[in-house]
Amino acid sequence: MTLEPRVAWHEAAHVLIARRVGVPVLSVSLSAFSAGTMHSTPIGPDPSPVEIERRLTVVLAGELAEGYAPAASANGREPESDDPWFSDAETLAQLHIGDAHAGPRDADVVAHYEPRIGAEAVARARAFAAEFVSCEAATGRLEKVATALLRRQHLDAAEIDSLIEGET
Ligand SMILES: [Zn+2]
Repeated sequence: MTLEPRVAWHEAAHVLIARRVGVPVLSVSLSAFSAGTMHSTPIGPDPSPVEIERRLTVVLAGELAEGYAPAASANGREPESDDPWFSDAETLAQLHIGDAHAGPRDADVVAHYEPRIGAEAVARARAFAAEFVSCEAATGRLEKVATALLRRQHLDAAEIDSLIEGET
């Protein structure tokens, strides 16, 4: 099994920001071939613009966090760009090849919702996610969750709680 730090950092950021903005996280896991998945409560059938923007901050944090991961192991690969969110959509999609998210790829989610809330709201979500990820990297929480995920490969909601609250 290949477990890439990059993918663990990516998923850890989804988890941390979801908790921050009040999106319930059910579990997060890594599996073979560097796939990562975070399960949260699904977005409703007719989400408000505020809800979409909130969810997009969660989506956007993943790739932003990859830049904070330590260098990949022999089987891994380096992030292709320091700042992928300023690249074009095709590049974004390529960054996710190999992640094999169980659901739609992050970039596809953004592309799907952007017409409904506008580029300005997406930019706002991206700025919030960037600042959040930077803070969580600075406090060490991002690394703490990513490291636990690399070690255990699966964290449920209670395990995430106790990890972040410092009980384990
Ligand atoms: Zn993701």
